Amino acid sequence: MLAFALAGLLAAAAPPPDRPLLVTVDDLPVASRFHEDPAERRRITDGLLAVLVKHRVRAVGFVTWANFRGTSDQELLDDWLNQGHELGNHSDRHLNLTSSDAGTWIADVESARARLDGFLRARGRRLRFFRFPFLREGDSEAKLDAARGWLARSGQRNLPVTIDDQDWSFEEPWVRAQRAGDATALARVAEDYLAALRLSVRHHEANGDRLLGRQSPQVLLLHANAVGVGCWDRLFTWLEEAGHRFASADEVLADPVFSELPRVPATHGFGLWDRLSVARREALAREQIAQLLTTQAEAWTRGDLEAFCSAYAEDASFVAPTGLTRNRQEILERYRRRYPGREAMGALTLEVLETRAAWGTEVSLLGDAAPSRVHAVSVVARWTLRRPGQPDASGLTLLVLRPRGEGWEIVQDASM
Ligand SMILES: [Zn+2]
Repeated sequence: MLAFALAGLLAAAAPPPDRPLLVTVDDLPVASRFHEDPAERRRITDGLLAVLVKHRVRAVGFVTWANFRGTSDQELLDDWLNQGHELGNHSDRHLNLTSSDAGTWIADVESARARLDGFLRARGRRLRFFRFPFLREGDSEAKLDAARGWLARSGQRNLPVTIDDQDWSFEEPWVRAQRAGDATALARVAEDYLAALRLSVRHHEANGDRLLGRQSPQVLLLHANAVGVGCWDRLFTWLEEAGHRFASADEVLADPVFSELPRVPATHGFGLWDRLSVARREALAREQIAQLLTTQAEAWTRGDLEAFCSAYAEDASFVAPTGLTRNRQEILERYRRRYPGREAMGALTLEVLETRAAWGTEVSLLGDAAPSRVHAVSVVARWTLRRPGQPDASGLTLLVLRPRGEGWEIVQDASM
């Protein structure tokens, strides 16, 4: 009886793998400049497909037409389809949207779409998914909108990555070791590949779980390369042991987190959890600053200039048409001189017209581009003063704020 109860506890402690994970494979047919020989391209494809079959993985492969080498490669793409995988669009020339103009980029991805659409229709299949080259979705609002507009018009869905990693970077050392027949070097590259991938999976999953407050579904990014042939079996075995269940695109994308992707203009290619982090940090900063300005206006209206000025940094600058005032204490004195009593102060409202958050790109410990925290926020607001028996006074102010503890402080204020 006791043994039975213990077995039950152990079973409860180790549930069956249930974190859905979609495997996506970029830059098909073969994602590497090292393999021009058709026989080698065939071996790589067979090797990758064999691991996918062994682990019952139904992947989405993304075709980059610049990697296509003619008739024999057509057979490789057919094999992906015939073995139950889906093919998506990953552009013609793998252009980087950050360094391209939107028109050139769209012409490239559209010609790739038309070609893949024709290829799939001839086989009774349908094109559904798109993957941004370098995961770069646009570094300005205008480019982001242009790319999203094209996706919507052409009926494709952006399939984001949640586990962004550097699997491609192991291809060159792997091929070098393989061609030199250096078994020790091959084993070392394999260990590094697996260690790096395990770290990426753990890191991005922890981020996803924290952001969603629950077990987050995952989309893993891999590339169709020779190092994958040597390492995917061990990688997939580890993923299974670590609680993952290989799931279809339909199952994973049914999770509500994929229904509305965050709008984050960024120079670099971020995974979904990083984009979600940025969007949340910006939203939190906006909310906190709006609250700070409300609190400040309330302090003014009750005649508490000291509380009003506590929002300024110790070394804040205040710019007015009459000149420049430096330091919080001087700013407070200036207000006291100009508004020598509650009567003179009246009731203040501050209406936020525009907020911009400044953040940048950092390199994570794993070597990935990662978004920084919000380092500063600038706000344009309209101030209005209502005083009994006098016409309302109103004007604009430009505030620059930086983080202070859990909140924000004003470092520059230009009021006019
Ligand atoms: Zn790619």
